[in-house]
Amino acid sequence: MKIKKVHQWICLLLIILAPITQATEKKFRWKMVTTWPPHFPIFQIGVEKFAKDIEDMSNGRLKIKVSAGGELVPALQTFDAVSQGLVQMGHGSAYYWAGKIPAAQFMSAVPFGMTAKGMNAWFYKGGGLKLWRDLYQPFGVIPFPAGNSGVQMGGWFKKKINSLEDLKGLKMRIPGLGGKVLSKAGVATKLLAVGEIYTALERGNIDATEFVGPFHDQRLGLYRAAKYYYYPGWHEPGAVMELIVNKKAWQSLPKDLQKIVEIATRALNQWMYNEFEGLNIKALRELTQQYKVEVLPFPDDVIKELKRLTVETLEEESAKDAKFKQVYEAFKAFQADHDAWNAIADEAYSKALAK
Ligand code: CA
Repeated sequence: MKIKKVHQWICLLLIILAPITQATEKKFRWKMVTTWPPHFPIFQIGVEKFAKDIEDMSNGRLKIKVSAGGELVPALQTFDAVSQGLVQMGHGSAYYWAGKIPAAQFMSAVPFGMTAKGMNAWFYKGGGLKLWRDLYQPFGVIPFPAGNSGVQMGGWFKKKINSLEDLKGLKMRIPGLGGKVLSKAGVATKLLAVGEIYTALERGNIDATEFVGPFHDQRLGLYRAAKYYYYPGWHEPGAVMELIVNKKAWQSLPKDLQKIVEIATRALNQWMYNEFEGLNIKALRELTQQYKVEVLPFPDDVIKELKRLTVETLEEESAKDAKFKQVYEAFKAFQADHDAWNAIADEAYSKALAK
């Protein structure tokens, strides 16, 4: 009887106190910018979904207003905007900051590097995320893996590539380390914004271009400007997207909201990868069956030479920057182990399937 009474009192007290607790629960209103064009499929759409997930999971306590590249700040100022605290969050890919942090390129795409599964294992189980956080630490920015394109395609070519000779003098749009490697092979590489690629290829200002994979390339209409579609995307075997958070803003979040952001980011990381895989399958079928695109592998000697030039490029970059060297060594060691496992796992299974 007595216990029942006490219980009733506690319940009553909780009912009276509930509105007070709710009122004191702080609401956060954050801004987020991205490097992607408005409505850009998978990339920008995924980020908007991520913000909505966080709002739902936190019952509106953390609301994030997402702006596409150029809407609030230019796309390539995303990192600075987060670092300076102009906005609390950003989404992009680490190789965009190569000018500021050369080693950041290992956190997005390295030619002949690891695919999505290797990259995720490196980040979460191989010390990669710790190295990444150390790199961004001086800028007051905390990174998280937040998406993966899967293996990209090698690109669209107007003429067939039968040998290394065919690469010489070719004008190609290809950014990053892959571009540096191709320059060594005699390709005149160009940097073009997404909006300029199709016209440049169609008018013959460039002879070849890489973009992403079947889904995005089809949407850009590249099959109308070049006939040969080469694989594999040796230069971007599993491009990683990143979520970046301003460190002070992160520290101002209560533990439960930090947890929600962390789990939502893991979900985004997986979601993007699944979207790419699913949509690429469908687009590849349409490109080959409907648009009669010729899908071809790069010749073996071309791949071998690009691989040799990649090592040369990475060694050269290591000599220029101590942090690049440190991350390269760690990345290389993890990849060697991963490749050994992969050879008897996924790779062996693919070979078995093809028999
Ligand atoms: Ca690409």
